[in-house]
Amino acid sequence: MHADILIIGSGLAGYTLAKEIRRLSQDISIYILTQDDGAFYSKPLLSNSFSKHKSAESLAIKSAEMMAEELDATVLPKETVLSIDRQRKSISTSSQTITYQSLVLALGASPRQLSLPEAISDMTYSVNDLEDFAAFQKQLEDCKAPLVIGSGLVGCEFTNDLIKTGYALNVVSMDNYPLQQLVPEKVGHRLQSQLESEGAHFHFNTRITSARKENQQTIVSLESGTELPCDLVLSAAGLLPRTEIAKKADLSVNHGIVVDTLLQTSEPDIYAFGDCAEINGYVMMYIEPIFLSAKALAKTLTGTPTHVSFPAMPVLIKTPSLPLVCHPPLPSCEGKWQFEEQGNDIRAMFYDTGKQLKGFALTGSFVRERMKLAKSLPGVFATPENSAGNGN
Ligand SMILES: Cc1cc2nc3c(=O)[nH]c(=O)nc-3n(C[C@H](O)[C@H](O)[C@H](O)COP(=O)(O)OP(=O)(O)OC[C@H]3O[C@@H](n4cnc5c(N)ncnc54)[C@H](O)[C@@H]3O)c2cc1C
Repeated sequence: MHADILIIGSGLAGYTLAKEIRRLSQDISIYILTQDDGAFYSKPLLSNSFSKHKSAESLAIKSAEMMAEELDATVLPKETVLSIDRQRKSISTSSQTITYQSLVLALGASPRQLSLPEAISDMTYSVNDLEDFAAFQKQLEDCKAPLVIGSGLVGCEFTNDLIKTGYALNVVSMDNYPLQQLVPEKVGHRLQSQLESEGAHFHFNTRITSARKENQQTIVSLESGTELPCDLVLSAAGLLPRTEIAKKADLSVNHGIVVDTLLQTSEPDIYAFGDCAEINGYVMMYIEPIFLSAKALAKTLTGTPTHVSFPAMPVLIKTPSLPLVCHPPLPSCEGKWQFEEQGNDIRAMFYDTGKQLKGFALTGSFVRERMKLAKSLPGVFATPENSAGNGN
């Protein structure tokens, strides 16, 4: 079998790219291989859907067969790509080898695996795809004391959703406050107060050190000395780009699979984007960079080399208990936060030492200012000058 364009991965990255290519060309043969069932779904909805009593089936917008027909592509579900042969320009699964003209790695990211005590290992889940969602939802049915590990974006969103589903729960985090990588302390604490007023209880600066069964209950002990009952654990301790097959093929890999602004890896005919990629030094596990990358890469793959460039992209946090949007400054940026409050709402603006706006975090009614503020922020990185045919 031979594909003009072979895409590994049927997440938002893989399918969006295929759609963009079809907009530009009807003749190119597209193959999409995926280790899951190939259903098209919106991953961001996973952290908001328990409270809405959605099933995994109802979140699957289209099956692999429907996507294949719509995209006029060959979609091969349940096919794990094991290796890439750069010289022969082929990939191999356990059952077949397929050659390609261009290869796109849209492999996503895997949940960080924590080393947890044995007594809770079989009750610990991560929710990173539809299958995970279904498995966790099944466990939730009989659960009385869920515990969330992690207080980043995904941890806070699931915490909010579980509260809205009717659970009181504990959240254990190594951070000092919610969304520590994204917002200033004051904003994080506002979210904490809101979620705690509705049934969450946060334990910061600590981690689970041991767990034991006692009278048919599981008790976890934290480094801080606190003991908590728990019968189900949702681990939201971060995601790591999937880089294994790229490493095996000797492609350049740092935190993610290294690509330039053409989304090209260290090998000319192999590209990568989405959660698995490190684009020009940035790993951005959000959907807006995926849509912009897919548009640019589709042009490149159909004959018009097109560099991707990213404007400032605010992140909307799906915590309905406290609407929140942020655009964190780069960690290397020196400056300070300034705050304005109206009732329960906060407008936090980060100015660098030259008094230039470099980031913000908005809650409540201030959220509607996000697009206006984003326009006055510098982009993540700009398209190199003189790039051929860049029509973004
Ligand atoms: C709970 C949650 C909530 C989120 N909310 C938001 C949000 O509100 N806003 C936002 O911007 N972003 C959000 N994100 C991030 C966003 O969803 C991701 O950035 C995006 O979905 C990643 O898409 P992807 O295609 O790169 O990866 P994935 O969707 O993970 O797809 C990877 C694909 O690669 C396949 N694959 C991997 N390895 C192999 C292999 N060896 N062989 C074959 N197939 C393979 C997988 O089967 C899968 O089909 C959220 C993420 C999570 C987990």
